Amino acid sequence: MDVPDEPPVECPVCETAYDSVSVHDEGVMVNLLDNDRYRRVCFEPTSRGGRAMLRFYHHTHEQTDADGEQADVPADSEPGG
Ligand SMILES: [Zn+2]
Repeated sequence: MDVPDEPPVECPVCETAYDSVSVHDEGVMVNLLDNDRYRRVCFEPTSRGGRAMLRFYHHTHEQTDADGEQADVPADSEPGG
């Protein structure tokens, strides 16, 4: 695992803040079904020194929850009337 020299502030794929980024130049297996920390990983093809690479942007559950719909509605919301 390697990290890029100048990682972007936001994930270039989904434009959301990410927790960490890694660079891979060979096949990897990703399984987030049972991952307590990360909910989503975006993949960006790139290259370094003419060699094809993949950047992995790791998003935590909190970061992805803030991206769009609300996860939970407060239970104390008053009934309309
Ligand atoms: Zn992303």
